[in-house]
Amino acid sequence: MLENDLTTDLIVLESHISGLFDSIRKGSSMLKDFQTFEMRLFDQSSLGEMIRYILDSAKAVFDLDQVTLCLLDESGELSQLLAEESFDPAHHRRLTLLCDKELFSVKFGYVLHSYLGSFVQEHFGHFFVSDAIPLAHIAIIPLYQRGEYLGTLNLGSSRPGRFFGSITDDFLAHLSMVVGICLENRLNIETIRRTSYVDTLTGVNNRRFLEQRIGEEVARCQRNSDPLTCLFLDIDHFKSVNDKYGHLAGDSVLSIVAKAIKNQLRNNDVLARYGGEEFVVLLSNIDQSTGCEIAERIRRNVQSLKITFSEITIPVTLSIGLTTYRSDRRDPLTIAEAASCLINTADSALYQAKNNGRNRIEYHDIPRDRPFALLKA
Ligand code: GH3
Ligand code: MG
Ligand code: MG
Repeated sequence: MLENDLTTDLIVLESHISGLFDSIRKGSSMLKDFQTFEMRLFDQSSLGEMIRYILDSAKAVFDLDQVTLCLLDESGELSQLLAEESFDPAHHRRLTLLCDKELFSVKFGYVLHSYLGSFVQEHFGHFFVSDAIPLAHIAIIPLYQRGEYLGTLNLGSSRPGRFFGSITDDFLAHLSMVVGICLENRLNIETIRRTSYVDTLTGVNNRRFLEQRIGEEVARCQRNSDPLTCLFLDIDHFKSVNDKYGHLAGDSVLSIVAKAIKNQLRNNDVLARYGGEEFVVLLSNIDQSTGCEIAERIRRNVQSLKITFSEITIPVTLSIGLTTYRSDRRDPLTIAEAASCLINTADSALYQAKNNGRNRIEYHDIPRDRPFALLKA
């Protein structure tokens, strides 16, 4: 009798122990998956990649049926950074960007604490997209960073009871913290990177940006055998604008002229303030004759600007030098040679435009002899 009781107790104990081992195994495998997810999340090199990674990989790693993100974007910064990466939120249904805190509150209600529980369409439908797999259990996790509310990370499963248990609570709290930190961190890095390429006075890109982009533009033009036209633009007698109307008036002129140049360009053309009152434009896949038309259009447009400062109209004109580079298959220049050749040749054309009376454009051909590029680099 006693022996039987003991045997039954032993069987119960063994089954408990095996259950415990099972939980430990599951817990440690989840921890391992989570660590891998975390490491890769930190590694993503852009905001778009990071969001894509969260949406796609979290689903696979944690064996879920749906992962979505709802992010607050009051300043529009997130949308702008994503647009620069050609990441169109409209094509990613599982990412919702809301520019208005009020709208966020109306549409989603403030989610200040995690919700773990059954999926009820009328309450939580906004957080998810209607998918082929019906959701049974969900976790809606608020994301914070330094007390700032960023939005929510939403996990959905078709399995009832998927998100219960103390391990899951801790795990979700940790996941929320890690995703919040990573998003905020990435956003800060991208903002710093972007502002370091922008000229604060005119709002157009700066010379550092040009130095980075010119290599990419030359490489592309060599790869596709496309022409690449470079414009060097300089405001005429700008020193006398400062002398006559003051430095603040000069600043205003610089800013208005920069915007006027930008308005004549395509979105993907490169425009940079090269220095003081000098700008450089790169027109990819634009040949000499179209390049001259664009330069002439910019020149005319700037001449016709009505710039007023303290009710005084300031007349402004531009001189423009330009050149067009086409890669020569028989004797290709290196990327660095071609880049310095473009700038030097457009600069020498500008010099001639100045000598020939200003408020005009001049075109120079890229010299055929390589030493020119090397000497002036
Ligand atoms: P040119 O027609 O030969 O180009 O004559 P210029 O007077 O335009 O050229 P110069 O190089 O003699 O003078 C450029 C002036 O641009 C001198 C400098 O004070 C002014 N400048 C450079 N950067 C700024 C700026 O950020 N703000 C203002 N207001 N002036 C600037
Ligand atoms: Mg100058
Ligand atoms: Mg000048």
